[in-house]
Amino acid sequence: MRILWAPWRMAYVGAGGGDGRCIFCAALEGDPRERLVLGTTRASVVMLNRYPYQNGHLMVAPRRHTAALPDLPADEHADLAETLRRALRSLEATLRPQGFNLGMNLGACAGAGVVDHLHWHVVPRWAGDTNFMTTLAEARVMPQHLDETFGRLAPAFRWLDGGD
Ligand SMILES: [Zn+2]
Repeated sequence: MRILWAPWRMAYVGAGGGDGRCIFCAALEGDPRERLVLGTTRASVVMLNRYPYQNGHLMVAPRRHTAALPDLPADEHADLAETLRRALRSLEATLRPQGFNLGMNLGACAGAGVVDHLHWHVVPRWAGDTNFMTTLAEARVMPQHLDETFGRLAPAFRWLDGGD
């Protein structure tokens, strides 16, 4: 049996502002591109994963700093779900993946890299793909690659931040 989804293998998604802050809360401030933030909605934020499992690996998180999905107010969850839906459509339009893995790791024992701010992982998949990090082998090449991916995705995510 092939294991297609191994969220517990996911690397920690990256440092915040260098001051130990939560990366999702820190993402709401400062330069969006530097923080790999594709945009925000009223209650949610969409950003690239700095240590992608696959090209185009996004994270969709609520603005609210909470670890517990049941604690999210219903309207903020509705915003999160709608943002997730539209993010899939934008990824489909740009990267043309053949499938997706969606996952949410709640709690450290479930493999969450950031345990106190819940977030969806959105991982585009192609037939025959492998773990992008093993393919690229060295994380050093990632900054340039991430910048390219960001530039490619940004136009498709203009609906964020109040765009259409
Ligand atoms: Zn947070």
